[in-house]
Amino acid sequence: MIPFNKPYLTSKELIYIKQAVEEHGHISGNGVFTKKCQSFFEQSWGFKKCLLTTSCTDALEMCALLLNIEPGDEVIMPSFTFVSTAIAFIRQGAVVRFVDSRTDHPGMNEHMIEELITPKTKAIVVVHYAGVACDMDTIMDIAVRYNVKVVEDAAQAIDSYYINSKGKKQALGSIGHLGCFSFHETKNIQCGEGGMLCINDEQYIQRSEVLWEKGTNRAEFFRGEIHKYGWVDIGSSFLPSEINAAFLWAQLENLEAIQSKRKLIWEHYSEALSQTFSLPFIPQYATNNAHMYYVLCSTLEERTDFIAKMKKQGVHPVFHYQSLHVSEFYKHKHDGRLLPHADRYTDCLVRLPLFYEIDENKVIEAVLNCY
Ligand SMILES: *Cc1c(COP(=O)(O)O)cnc(C)c1O
Repeated sequence: MIPFNKPYLTSKELIYIKQAVEEHGHISGNGVFTKKCQSFFEQSWGFKKCLLTTSCTDALEMCALLLNIEPGDEVIMPSFTFVSTAIAFIRQGAVVRFVDSRTDHPGMNEHMIEELITPKTKAIVVVHYAGVACDMDTIMDIAVRYNVKVVEDAAQAIDSYYINSKGKKQALGSIGHLGCFSFHETKNIQCGEGGMLCINDEQYIQRSEVLWEKGTNRAEFFRGEIHKYGWVDIGSSFLPSEINAAFLWAQLENLEAIQSKRKLIWEHYSEALSQTFSLPFIPQYATNNAHMYYVLCSTLEERTDFIAKMKKQGVHPVFHYQSLHVSEFYKHKHDGRLLPHADRYTDCLVRLPLFYEIDENKVIEAVLNCY
């Protein structure tokens, strides 16, 4: 049986966890491995400040707090995304205005954002679906003109880039005011459950450390910048333990190997299946981090049939999101606009298994048997 995902272990994870437990003598958060991971991210991709979190959901919640989202504020985001993109803002009482997907890609249609902006709009949350960049120049231009903040849900977008019209290459997660990543076991680099907040706009750096440490100025205290620490703001316990950070560090050391292997599998799928399905579209301004290989069926019936036939051959492809505007929780609050492309990706998109140790030949053979 070929599962949809099998988390890859580099063999160093347990060694580093042992080191955290036995040598460093402290396994709560913000220790040696946390700092190593955060510096690695800051140096490799140019994020101004990184804080590891226990999930991407947590990082998004920190964004909602940092942006002071209040009841009645409006936040614009795609409908075809994971619930976490929305719940972080809904919890603060925000009203979500959903944007449809593009015709050629499940990511949000940047041309439909501006018409949704009102005086109540506080933020645009972009989601780089499958690690493929949104049109960030267009989106940042809207944000500047209307003075709204941009949060990048870059959960799937580690090691992927946006290349602007002048050829400048920027890491996803480093372009918006704030960026969020996930290290959930289904992502390219993982530690079971984990995430990261990237703070690119300096005005948020100091407060982000406070929110991260349960509303205290403990981080400043440990750096020796203040003499005693106490309760200064709202916050929560957003920081992961050193056990998770040690695990993540082993993955980061192997980033290049993991990424090149995933890209080879992705390329193999795209060559072998190009006669059967149209290739996942990657705009000129985006790179491919091989987070996902998806195909599009023509109808929901075709997809149901395809998944059943694949399972009979021992391969488990999976569909993806139910668009949030039709979800049980939010459909009554949605403003009623039709979002036909988000509906189409809800019904027709299927993800093929893609993980380090896969034998993708078996998947390809099974797909070709279905068509
Ligand atoms: C995985 C994912 C999340 C959630 O990440 P967690 O680390 O599990 O909280 C959020 N948004 C998107 C787009 C994702 O793919």
